[in-house]
Amino acid sequence: MRLEGKVAIITGGARGQGAAEARMFAREGAKVVFGDILDDEGRKVEAEINEAGGEATYVTLDVTDEDSWNDAVQTAVSSYGKVDILVNNAGIVSWNAGDDATVEEWDNVMDVNAKGVFLGTRAVIPEMRKAGGGSIINISSISGMVGQANIHPGYNASKGAVRILTKSTAIQNAGDGIRCNSIHPGPIKTEMTRQGWEDPERLALTEQRTPLGRYAEPDEIAYGVLFLASDESSFMTGSEMVIDGGLTAQ
Ligand code: NAD
Repeated sequence: MRLEGKVAIITGGARGQGAAEARMFAREGAKVVFGDILDDEGRKVEAEINEAGGEATYVTLDVTDEDSWNDAVQTAVSSYGKVDILVNNAGIVSWNAGDDATVEEWDNVMDVNAKGVFLGTRAVIPEMRKAGGGSIINISSISGMVGQANIHPGYNASKGAVRILTKSTAIQNAGDGIRCNSIHPGPIKTEMTRQGWEDPERLALTEQRTPLGRYAEPDEIAYGVLFLASDESSFMTGSEMVIDGGLTAQ
């Protein structure tokens, strides 16, 4: 198993991409603490993982709140003894672009997507030092690499912030054996993009724009996260893994 003996914290794990990562990490032998603000969904995922023979603990975690982070890290340490891996996966989006993009949406998106990653990183680093190293994986997006017409500019800005924050984290913590890399997915079939893939016209447009001709399934991104979390990627830090069906290659 690729994560045998590791303890991981995953944010936004109640559904979508984060739930796929929690399930995959548990199958690969990690003990998983995963948090979200959707408690009912989170507890269902927790029960499902534990019934399948994995080890997972769901915690209520609002990534914008420092105390909430301290509680999550404390749960990981008291339940499983340490923290080796953090996946900063939680994120929100607004599809209001151009003149429709509001300041309130800017603040919300920056709070969850950018400040949430900063707070999570700060919260786990002391424990990773104690463990002798660690791996932090930040879920950015292709929206952090290119501008896009039909999305709130704050979403692009927040994911761009995550891209460069990843590099600062990598540089500032390499001496402690803590690695940090970002993942840049293209369109994934989750609740976040439901309005896109449920609308036949928008679905056709995305399929046509994407060289591989479809949305990703959450597991296709989670396999990249798994590689960066595991010791297989031991010489990678500060790098960007693009998993986008070829969208940004053209
Ligand atoms: P999703 O909406 O299905 O899941 C996001 C999860 O984050 C939800 O469970 C939500 O409750 C949680 N969350 C939101 N605010 C939170 C907070 N303050 N504290 C804790 N949890 C919070 O979306 P997803 O597609 O699974 O997205 C996962 C990540 O992947 C996000 O960072 C997203 O920006 C990124 N991403 C998604 C796509 C895509 O096409 N779906 C593409 C590129 C990147």
